[in-house]
Amino acid sequence: MKLRSIIQWIRNIDDPLSLSVIAKAAHDRYVQIINNPLHQSQALSVGDIVSFSLSDGKMIRGIIEGWGRKNLKVLAENGTIYRVPRAFVKKETTTPVKARLRPITQVEKVLPLVLSESERLLGDSGLSLPVRYKRQVWSTHFRPNRHIQYGERCLAYQLTPIRATDNVGANLRRFKLPADIPGRLAMLVCHEVSHAIAYKRYGPNIAPHGRQFFLVLSELVDSEFTEIRAKFRQLLS
Ligand SMILES: [Zn+2]
Repeated sequence: MKLRSIIQWIRNIDDPLSLSVIAKAAHDRYVQIINNPLHQSQALSVGDIVSFSLSDGKMIRGIIEGWGRKNLKVLAENGTIYRVPRAFVKKETTTPVKARLRPITQVEKVLPLVLSESERLLGDSGLSLPVRYKRQVWSTHFRPNRHIQYGERCLAYQLTPIRATDNVGANLRRFKLPADIPGRLAMLVCHEVSHAIAYKRYGPNIAPHGRQFFLVLSELVDSEFTEIRAKFRQLLS
């Protein structure tokens, strides 16, 4: 049951006794959560493995990617990103899950090739656009007449041996291409450069991931994907 419908349901109760029973149960549960020593004492930081349960009781394990004002951002083993209140996660000390959640290598190892392949593809299309890298952010994008940016966290995610659920993973499935780490890096490069080419060819009024974008992406994938993936494979072998 969604929290909103529970609250709606409670609003419709006018029996004071029922309301006080509900209030007492909610209060007791709240106290139980905040007093849980596991939740009080553990210091959490980015990179820690945590677990939490979903409303249907399913246990999820993941790695802390970052946090906002209220919620932790957790990358789960299944590749999904969850935003979870701090009080609901438990730090995991078991090791078996860690291997799949941690990047297989440092971003710095693949970064030069990501940048040089992007510049090469831009050059081949007659575009001169700075390609830059930004630490500690996910944001990976094309800004018209300004740059292509690769965010550290997005690159780290491509280096994590879990099933990709981002745009890159979706693109690989769309074109039925191998979704291994070299494939994900190659697709990321093709994806960002395609934005720049689509902008040049069709102008500023096209949808970011619309028909024209996918036309360009499929051309680029046909001519470049295999070669770029092979370069990343060699780098990572
Ligand atoms: Zn995009």
